[in-house]
Amino acid sequence: MKKTNNYRKLALETYGPLCAHCGFGIPDVLEVAHLDCNRENNDPKNLVVLCPNCHKMHDLDLISTETIIQMRDRPKVVVWAKRMKDAGKKAAIKRKRRAAAKKAVATRRENAKGGIK
Ligand SMILES: [Zn+2]
Repeated sequence: MKKTNNYRKLALETYGPLCAHCGFGIPDVLEVAHLDCNRENNDPKNLVVLCPNCHKMHDLDLISTETIIQMRDRPKVVVWAKRMKDAGKKAAIKRKRRAAAKKAVATRRENAKGGIK
């Protein structure tokens, strides 16, 4: 009876209130799509939470079903290491330069005091 309408709740509980493709997360705006376009097939594997934009793009095949499934099932973990790959090296160079600049200032100050002998 009411079971046909429970797919929305089922999908949101299974996958969380986030668009599987872009991560948009306002639950009232999110939609639940049937990947095989069969609204009777409410198996969780056939369901995906999408925002209206991504839902439309999937319907028009601008986003493939394979991509949607991949995005839905991949862990939502942020890996900052990818973005920060050179941050350590850059910081080390900056520290070195700063130390050298401080030393140069001290030397200049010292020389100005007593003059070079
Ligand atoms: Zn989206």
